[in-house]
Amino acid sequence: MTAALTTTVIKNADWVIGWDENAGRHVYRRNLDIAFAGGTIVFVGRNFPGTADRVIDGKDRLVLPGLIDIHSHPAHEPLYRGIREEHGVRNMHMTGLYERSQAFSAPDDDARAASAEFAYCELLLSGVTSLVDISAAWDGWLDLFAKSGMRGFLAPGYASARWRLANDFELHYDWDEARGREDFAMALALIDRAVRHPSGRLSGVVSPMQIDACTADLLRDSRDAARERGLPFTVHVAQSVSEVREMIRRHGRTPIQWAYDNGLLGPDAVLGHALFLDTHSWIRWWSRTDLALIAETGCTVAHCPTPFARYGQIMENFGDYLRAGVNMGLGTDAAPHNLVEEMRKAAVFARIAARDIASVTTSDLLHAATVGGAKALMRDDLGRIAVDKKADLVVVDLTVPQMIPARDPLRSFVYHAGDRAVRDVFVDGQQVVADGRVMTLDHAGSAKRLAAAQRRMLEATPRRDYRGRSVEEIVPFSLPLAE
Ligand SMILES: [Zn+2]
Repeated sequence: MTAALTTTVIKNADWVIGWDENAGRHVYRRNLDIAFAGGTIVFVGRNFPGTADRVIDGKDRLVLPGLIDIHSHPAHEPLYRGIREEHGVRNMHMTGLYERSQAFSAPDDDARAASAEFAYCELLLSGVTSLVDISAAWDGWLDLFAKSGMRGFLAPGYASARWRLANDFELHYDWDEARGREDFAMALALIDRAVRHPSGRLSGVVSPMQIDACTADLLRDSRDAARERGLPFTVHVAQSVSEVREMIRRHGRTPIQWAYDNGLLGPDAVLGHALFLDTHSWIRWWSRTDLALIAETGCTVAHCPTPFARYGQIMENFGDYLRAGVNMGLGTDAAPHNLVEEMRKAAVFARIAARDIASVTTSDLLHAATVGGAKALMRDDLGRIAVDKKADLVVVDLTVPQMIPARDPLRSFVYHAGDRAVRDVFVDGQQVVADGRVMTLDHAGSAKRLAAAQRRMLEATPRRDYRGRSVEEIVPFSLPLAE
């Protein structure tokens, strides 16, 4: 006889964001019980008739589906705190990507472990229950992810070329196709291990890193490897003006058009950023096809507003992508790893770009952060609160001051309280955040190790930077340091 599954009920929740299957959208519901057994939701309604092993009082609570983050780099982005926020290169159309990846790099696997653990904590505390983690493979990654309790889609990155700068206006590519192939094989082996992981919570995404740094063959083989496994495929594309210009120089086409011509676009493709389309005001290419190609092939766009906005760049615009029929998801490309903040920024920037408050709604952003991400991952059992879906749940405290008045608790959450109101988080029915603290990982300990790792990284910076500069020369302090 097998042991009965543990049943938990959240009793009489004040507010629930439930899933209306017929309408294909989230809806508010009031005063409901949500019960889950093992990793699955078994009841959503009034007066749960079964017996529960654990009862959680739903008074003064909003229960929403766990958020799905489809683009992140936890193994290094937290190392950039205090550096990246105002780092960019004006001669490279503001992007700091190329200079930064050369001058600042995670120094060792201890640094990657500290950085990832720290980021996973931030993510869980902002209500993320599913994460696409795009990182160069490192020892201990799979075990740490499993320990976090989060639902993990490991995306080991690889490429045929590395970027190199010799000045601040020209991007060079050092090609090493054999190494790209080797790392591709290792990535697939790691993905296959993740899929077989006994927790059942891990999976993978095939992830050639950047469209401009991979050969067409490697990209097509990556797409095929993803399709064979029934997994998604992701690549950074249209993420900088430099990249768009380089692809036009090589192929006479925008990166999106080139991806289309090479059969890379499709419902299993998740495009990292796809911000600089032919119509974008920073590009102003003569064609007008990029958005339609993304939409008609059924791609997902992983939108990460924060890092671009810091350069002065925004998507033009989220609402137009939606209306074109693009499946939109959200990610946290940079620290902070706070998907609620990305929802808020995506909404505001879309309205700025459109000069129209009706360009997007809060509902659109919640959809992207849940159902849009689930669609990208080909998982209709995630991102929605309904019977038979996964018990990935976020319990928000309506009594924290930033939530009050909680007349419309989703607005209070997205525009005001954000992660400060996340109280409890469940993934696959297991509690991973309790009373605003991560139960599975060591947040404070990883913060200490992260700070030490950043010091190690910065020691190496003068040897890595193309001009031999220190961090202080590349990114001065935000205020002068007085005597
Ligand atoms: Zn990225």
